[in-house]
Order: sequence, then C-alpha cells, then structure tokens
Amino acid sequence: MEILFEHSFARDVPLGVLDQTPNRAPSPELALLNLPLCQTLGLPVEDLRENGAMWLSGTSWPEGAIPRAMAYAGHQFGGFSPVLGDGRAHLLGEILTSDGARFDLHLKGSGRTAFSRGGDGRAALGPMLREYLISESMAALGIATTRALAVVTTGDAILRDQGMVPAAVLARVAASHIRVGTFQYFAARKDLTSLQALVTHTLARHYPKAEPTALALFDSVAAAQANLVAQWMGVGFVHGVMNTDNMALSGETIDYGPCAFLDDYAPDTVFSSIDRQGRYAYGHQPRLMMWNLARLAEALLPFFDTDDTRAIEIANEHLDQMEGLYHRAWLRVMGAKIGVADQDLVNGFLAAIEGADFTRCFHALSQSDDAVLGLVPNQTALRAWLPAWRARVSPHVKLRNPVVIPRNHLVDAALKAATTGEMTPFHALLAQVQNPFGPEAGREVFALGPPSGFGPFVTYCGT
Ligand code: AMP
Ligand code: MG
Repeated sequence: MEILFEHSFARDVPLGVLDQTPNRAPSPELALLNLPLCQTLGLPVEDLRENGAMWLSGTSWPEGAIPRAMAYAGHQFGGFSPVLGDGRAHLLGEILTSDGARFDLHLKGSGRTAFSRGGDGRAALGPMLREYLISESMAALGIATTRALAVVTTGDAILRDQGMVPAAVLARVAASHIRVGTFQYFAARKDLTSLQALVTHTLARHYPKAEPTALALFDSVAAAQANLVAQWMGVGFVHGVMNTDNMALSGETIDYGPCAFLDDYAPDTVFSSIDRQGRYAYGHQPRLMMWNLARLAEALLPFFDTDDTRAIEIANEHLDQMEGLYHRAWLRVMGAKIGVADQDLVNGFLAAIEGADFTRCFHALSQSDDAVLGLVPNQTALRAWLPAWRARVSPHVKLRNPVVIPRNHLVDAALKAATTGEMTPFHALLAQVQNPFGPEAGREVFALGPPSGFGPFVTYCGT
C-alpha cells in the first residue's frame, strides 16, 4: 500500500513554503508508533512499521512526499517577528482519509531549515514524548488537537540546558499548520495576492460552509478558538506559549511546548520557565486568545473594506462579539462539569475550590458532599455552595469530568525514565490518559494529586 500525498497548500500559497531537506538521522529507531491513529487515518501500518524509522525521522521520505518548511511570522510574548517559520520542522505533504478529510503529515525536530536562525533544528526526546503524551491526552478528553503519530529517536545526542540528551523527531498530523502567524507573514510583507490565496485556501479547507469572505473566515476562527480555549479552561490546561505563531486557524490545539495541567486551582498559575511575567497564566488564556484574534483581524483588514477607517470599524465590531462568544462557550463547558449552566454557580464553585485540586474537586461532585469537602482547604464557602447547587441540578444528570489527566509529577517521572531508556512508566501513563473518563477504581495513583512537597512545577521549552 502506498501513501498518496497531495500538496494543496504549496499549490495554492506557493510563497508560504520552501523546499528543504531534512536531517539524516545516524541510527533512527521507532520509539512510539500510534497504531490506533494509523488505523483511523487509513495509514499503512505494515509500511510504517518497516519504514517508519526512516520516513518519520526525515532520513528518507515516502514517494510523493516533498519536505518543506512553512513560512510564518508571529507575536512572541507581545513582540512581533516578521519572519519565524519552521526552524526545525518539515511538512511532508497532505494525506486524505477515506472519508475525504485532509491532514498534514509533519515532522518536528527534523533538522535545520532556512528559518532556523541560531537554532540547531533539533528536538530532544523528552519534549517530543511530552507532546505525544499530552496531545493524546487532549484527544481522549475530546479537545481538538494535532495528533502524535510517532516518535523516532535519531541515535545521536544534542546539547540542551541539562547537557547532552538523546535527540528525537516527532511525527504529527494536523488538520493543517496554518497559523495566525501565517497571515501575519504575508500582511507584514504587504503581499495581498498571497494573503488572498491564503484566505481562500483556509476557508475551503477548514470552513467550507462559511461565506467565502475574509470576515466570515475571521468569525469562523473566532468561534472555533472560543470553543477551544473554553475546553482548555474546563480541564485546567495551560498552553504556556500562546503566541500568534502557535494558534492554528483550524481551531486545533497546536505546538505543545511548556504546557501543563493544573493540580491545585489558582487562576494565576504559570508553569513555563520562559513566561516570567505570567502573560500566559491559566486565567489569562481567554484574553490572550482574543488578543491573538485581534492580530488576525489586523492582518485581514485590507479585505474587510477598501476604506481603512471603515475596515477598522468592522474589525472592532466583530472583535466586540468575542467576549460574548467566549462566555457562552465557557458556560457550556463549565455547565456540563457541574450539571447546570449557571454562571453564578460555576463561579461560586471555582471560588470555593481555590487552592484545592481542580480535577479531583470536579470529579468528586459525582461522589458525595463529603468527598468534595475533604479536598478543599477552607470549607465555609463550599458548605454554602453545595445545597444551592443541589437545589438547581437534576439528580439524574451525569457530570462529565475526567478522572485522569497527565499529572505533572507523573509526566516528569515518565520522561525522566524514558530519557534513560526505560519506557515502562511512559507506556503506563499513556494508557491511563487515553482513558480519562473511565472509573477510578484500580488506578487511584494516576488520579491523585502530586505528593506533598512536589512543586512549584516548572516546564521548559526544550528548544
Ligand atoms: P516555538 O516557541 O517552539 O513554537 O518556536 C518558535 C520559533 O522558534 C519557531 O519558528 C521554531 O521553528 C523556532 N525554533 C524552536 N526551536 C528551534 C530549534 N531547536 N532550532 C531552530 N529553530 C527552532
Ligand atoms: Mg511554534
């Protein structure tokens, strides 16, 4: 069986890609291959078992693939870089599933490109395993995300803060790798021809039912992002680097770097070592999503109206809708967690569990009052909240709260072991996060919060 590649992005937006040759791995080995995902996508499992180490490390590539780096710009921590692009990644091409869905096959850590600047183009095994684990967890939680197809160790080592570490390549699939930064790239160069082609391509690919206008594209992306970030908030996910180059137009979670899940609930929680100002703290994510969408609107201004002032007015009218759009998405998500879409009850619960384990508190609501009360440091607010909530929630409603999320202390231990060649804890944790809503019995250690004395937890980009 062959993999049939298409290259619609390169065809439609030729200035958005550069042909680039990936790095040859000296001794590539498949560390992980996502068999269920291969099946879902209709990828040839036997072919990938045999050739995956070569193909998914970029050492060679299947016939029809054309390795390319994608161009994009981006606001990183508020500062604009007109040229970022794939500095350590290669798009091999697009594949169609049997039901016609199109996805990108993309390698990360596959070597230097024209966009690498000072970087080595490589990735360490730990962070690639981390993306595999967390993106699989997000998918199992029902949250739109890029998916991890494989991790291939290259057989060589690279220098990182910790010293020499094993290098790896992550193969991932995504609805596309079109980012807010892709639009900013062409807007910054005032290349309206490419920008228009990008608008047309993105609409056809991700929002075929929307009107074919830049404004309809903006509204569609805004709705998708409002839903996405509401879902992040619902599981306590902190992305960590919500730069405009890390926000996908498809509405999928993309570019897992120093991301992590909350243990104790506190809105100002930050995990990333590089986020010293707390810009991308848990509670700031909705604002940041809107800020990034404002940057998308800015890039699209020339298409909103030929008159600049009018174009800005239109952008603002649509950005003003964001607050309400997000609020409704948030209420839907949080309402499902407590069984009643009442914002005062949701906010009351959140206030009452501050400082207590986010995931366990919501899950304990399906158990008993005592189960929740036993988790919080200060019970007064919760004692008042519980009867008010019971009065509103139907006794038959089934709450949908995960039991298992990728706990920081477990991820940390699994990745440390994996870096020394011991994959057992990683596989055990992966199996658990792939079944987040299953019963707790028999897997209590995966459902518990961190041991006392763990933390504050810090994540590193590993770049
Ligand atoms: P990130 O914050 O990981 O999304 O990456 C931001 C930018 O830095 C992107 O343009 C990446 O391609 C680039 N980059 C990150 N790590 C490396 C690396 N090791 N070598 C070259 N470029 C990199
Ligand atoms: Mg990125």
